[in-house]
Amino acid sequence: MARGLEGRVVIATHNPGKLREMRELLAPYGVEAVSAGELGLPEPDETGTSFAENARIKSEAAARATQLPAFADDSGLTVEALGGDPGIHSARWAAPDKDFARAMRVIEEKLALKGATTPSSRRAAFVSALSVSWPDGHEERFIGRIDGTLVWPPRGSNGFGYDPMFLPNGHDRTFGEMSAGEKHGLPPRGQGLSHRARAFMALAAACLSRA
Ligand code: IMP
Repeated sequence: MARGLEGRVVIATHNPGKLREMRELLAPYGVEAVSAGELGLPEPDETGTSFAENARIKSEAAARATQLPAFADDSGLTVEALGGDPGIHSARWAAPDKDFARAMRVIEEKLALKGATTPSSRRAAFVSALSVSWPDGHEERFIGRIDGTLVWPPRGSNGFGYDPMFLPNGHDRTFGEMSAGEKHGLPPRGQGLSHRARAFMALAAACLSRA
């Protein structure tokens, strides 16, 4: 059985957007979230070779430094025809200026070189790994995934990152055309569509109880 999470936890992120999202998700469970950024913890190097390894590196470092349970996520887009790229390098493909229009163009150029024009040759998935580490070294880990295809040109201006190019299977609008509630909303109001929502629902079912 998974270990329960309660009281104070550290969110191992220096990203204010992610912190806000995590705080909102955790609030109904009576969990108080402080961030690694607020506590002045250094950001560890993400030297893992998978989303799950990188999430664990971040949650373990924060749990060790604070002696509190710590919560971290790592996520990205994986494109089948590109051997899983950009994968764990999803943020870096847009660096240094966070230019995701350019990063999406790079993906499109690579797909064009492979002659990937049909939906089945343009399959992709967003993946989110959530890791919770305790100071004694115990870890609980959850993976969320949403499969889809990549469209060109990008559609919609909602969301962030690669959202305008990603059409989730069974839908006719890209993540860039969906509202935040449609993309991330959890039941009963939403359907828990996104990779992060799916990973969080698995974590909540295993480790959280409603306050
Ligand atoms: P990290 O999890 O902070 O390392 O960032 C992962 C990167 O993956 C982000 O910078 C985005 O490029 C991409 N990514 C992750 N989740 C999403 C999403 O929901 N929509 C669009 N892009 C995403």
